Amino acid sequence: MQTKFVVVLGSLMSGMGKGIVTSSILKIMELNGLKALPVKFDGYLNYDCGTMNPYRHGEVFVLDDGSEVDMDFGMYERFMNRSLTGKLSITGGKVFSSIIEKERRGDYLGEDVQMIPHTINNILERLRAISESEKPNVLVIEVGGTVGDIENSYFIEAMRQLSLLEKVVFVNLTYIPKIDVVGEQKTKPTQIAFRMLMSAGIKPDFIVARSAEPLERSAKRKISMFTSVTEDRVIDDSTSDTIYSVPIHFIEQGFDRLLLKDLGINASLSKKKFEAYKKRLSGKASPGPKIAIVGKYVELKDSYASVKEALVHSGLSLNVSPELHWIESADISEGNVAEALSGMDGVIVPGGFGSRGIEGMITAIRHARENSIPFLGLCLGMQTMAIEFARNVCDLKGANSSEFDHSAKHKVVYIMPSQKGAKKKGGTMRLGAWECVIPSKSSTAYKAYRSSRISERHRHRYEINNKYIKVFERKGLIPSGKSADGRLVEMLEWRNSFGIGTQAHPELKSRLESPAPLFVAFLSAAQKHSRNS
Ligand code: GLN
Repeated sequence: MQTKFVVVLGSLMSGMGKGIVTSSILKIMELNGLKALPVKFDGYLNYDCGTMNPYRHGEVFVLDDGSEVDMDFGMYERFMNRSLTGKLSITGGKVFSSIIEKERRGDYLGEDVQMIPHTINNILERLRAISESEKPNVLVIEVGGTVGDIENSYFIEAMRQLSLLEKVVFVNLTYIPKIDVVGEQKTKPTQIAFRMLMSAGIKPDFIVARSAEPLERSAKRKISMFTSVTEDRVIDDSTSDTIYSVPIHFIEQGFDRLLLKDLGINASLSKKKFEAYKKRLSGKASPGPKIAIVGKYVELKDSYASVKEALVHSGLSLNVSPELHWIESADISEGNVAEALSGMDGVIVPGGFGSRGIEGMITAIRHARENSIPFLGLCLGMQTMAIEFARNVCDLKGANSSEFDHSAKHKVVYIMPSQKGAKKKGGTMRLGAWECVIPSKSSTAYKAYRSSRISERHRHRYEINNKYIKVFERKGLIPSGKSADGRLVEMLEWRNSFGIGTQAHPELKSRLESPAPLFVAFLSAAQKHSRNS
């Protein structure tokens, strides 16, 4: 069967949940027994997200193959419960760098290299390559940015041209505000959004209406009348309790049936899979435990999107609803740590780069260890766990990571020899899936994973310095996970209470239907802590 296309375009503004709509369409295709894959277009000229600031752009998501991609890929994987590859991410940087490389090589000799046809064809060739190698029934393409931006205009033009060649269904996400004084949902912005899309030569087949409250009948009628999209194709996307119920809401409105009809695909919803999916969300979660996330990018929650979702997934699997407290690590000091963490049942220190806020993390970890509060350290969180233990238990004064102090007396975390020569910043870290061996069945790591060989995703430059492993072990910090070749420490854990650090980012592989084992173990330890305190 030939690949068909669904193109999701967002109008008016960002932040309406285009990624959630795309993920939900992927999910409903899959629940209809189809192989659906996402493609994400991003108009920026960065080659990938690896060099972006998490404060501005949100989390950098990492795939098994080591690609550093937009955080929407995290959303797709979490909904689909499937691992994706980097070629599904098409950025302006990738498109233009390959065009210029070809031009220099002489591939276009004698031609003027132009937006049309060269850029558009480059994009279409990439889609063709994906559909030939992966053979999906449906490619669901999310066009990053907003209709009308200069940045994504060539991607939108490529989609218009695609619709001349292939079966394409256009889904337009718009926003329906409600003005307090009038108390009525306003459709004018959607009417304007429609006209803008029409002026790009695209008529939407569906309008997905994002609103705080359910879409009123009258608003639906009005949208339909002004856009010539029939009412059954104006889909309600009002705020729900959890993002994971959006596919259910779409199916209940018959969105999947109409999409498949338009695509010309004969498929039917698997009742069994649909019921199982609904059941995952139907549990009555009891509130608690209280979890502190002590990080350096907490002001922008998107920086830790996967950590947050991993807590949602593990909470659902344990039938608890953790209460999350985001704490800026730079604000923590010895003087206020007891107050800042008072009443907490678990502490997480997530990933990060650079020296700001590191001492606050170390202080928080010390407090957790000395008070037997369950602790989970993610990448930088494990590195700071090692520094804290070295300084306060092993009495190695001045212990640090060479990332933060080049001249530290005890570099318990240091740059990997293989990283020393790396001059370029993009794509040069230890990236992607790495195997880890967990030898001892009595370790927290083994109890969490129930396996002695696991694989998680990485994104870092620095490693635990093996020189200090013996003293750590003697004093009660156990290297419970090692790289497959035995040369790198992948996990550390406290002997005396629940505390585990991993050099990987297990949150990147947590999905609704398969929560990250370390998060489940951590959350159940926190739950126990909350019962006992
Ligand atoms: N900055 C640390 C390193 O590069 C940790 C990175 C991270 O937490 N992802 O090793």
